[in-house]
Amino acid sequence: MLLSVEHLRVAFRVEGRLSVPVRDVSFGIPENGRVALVGESGCGKSLTALAIGGLVDRAEITGNVVGAPRIAYVFQNPMQSLNPVMRVGAQIAEGCASAAVARRRVPETLAAVGLDEGAARKFPCELSGGQQQRVMIAMALAQEPNLLIADEPTTALDVTTQKEVLDLIARVADSRGMAVLLITHNLGLVARYSTFVNVMYAGEIVECGETRAVLSAPHHPYTQGLLAAVPRLDAPKDAPLADMPGTVPPPTDWPSGCSFHPRCPKARPECASKDFNILWKMSGSPPTRCIA
Ligand code: SF4
Repeated sequence: MLLSVEHLRVAFRVEGRLSVPVRDVSFGIPENGRVALVGESGCGKSLTALAIGGLVDRAEITGNVVGAPRIAYVFQNPMQSLNPVMRVGAQIAEGCASAAVARRRVPETLAAVGLDEGAARKFPCELSGGQQQRVMIAMALAQEPNLLIADEPTTALDVTTQKEVLDLIARVADSRGMAVLLITHNLGLVARYSTFVNVMYAGEIVECGETRAVLSAPHHPYTQGLLAAVPRLDAPKDAPLADMPGTVPPPTDWPSGCSFHPRCPKARPECASKDFNILWKMSGSPPTRCIA
C-alpha cells in the first residue's frame, strides 16, 4: 500500500465546544491506485485530505497515516489558489528544488498538461478557467509526486472542461505511475475515474469497496440516496429530480447512533441507539455502516 489512513480523527475546540469533523476514518491508497472519497459538502472529505498531508493547524489529530508518499494537491478553484500577481512559470518553479531544476521542469510540466511554453510568461488572469486548472496540475507535477490529491478539481469549471481536466489527470497519472485520490460529490466522476470508492457521511466512511460493485449494488441508504439523485438521461422529461431530504448536520451536532438516521428512509428505533456501533459490528456488515 502506498498510503494507509488508520482511525484518523480530527477535532477542534470551537468556543469551548468540541467539533469532530473527521471521526475514525480508515482507508488505503495502493501504488498507482485510483481511489475516490465521495459525499456531500460538509462530510469531512477535504479535511481528511488536508490531514493526510499534515496541513491542518490547531487541531487535535489522532490516528495514523502510514507511508510517506510525495503528495501534491490540486484544489477546486484555480483562481483562488494561483497567485494573481505572479507569472505562471514562477509559480510552477516554486515547487522545484533549485533554479536549474525549474528551468527544465517548467516547460516539461507545461507540455505534460497541454500548454505551450509561452504560458510560463502569462499571469493567471490571461488564461481561461480550464488553462488555470492545467497550471495547477503542472505545479503539482513539478514536485514529482507519487500521490496526487485532487480535491473537487473541476467544480469551478464547465462540463466540457471538467472532462478535459479529469482525462488529463488520468493520463498523466497513468504515464507517471502516480496514484490519485479524487475528492468529489459527483458519483458520475467516481464511476469514470476511480477503481475504489469510500463514501463519507458526517465524518465517517459509511460504505467502501470496488467502485463498480458499490455503484451497481449500493448497500448503505446514503449511497443509495446519492445514486438516486444523479439525473438520468433516459428518465421521462417531466419526471421530478430525485433529492435527499435534509442536509448534513454541523460537526458540533452529529446525531447519536447512526449519523444518517434523521434523514434515512429505512431508519429503525435502534438506529439512534447509543449502542449503535455494537449493533453494527454484530450485524456482520462492517464495510457498510448500516444495520438494515
Ligand atoms: S443504520 Fe439505520 S439509519 Fe443508519 S443507514 Fe442503516 S437503516 Fe439508515
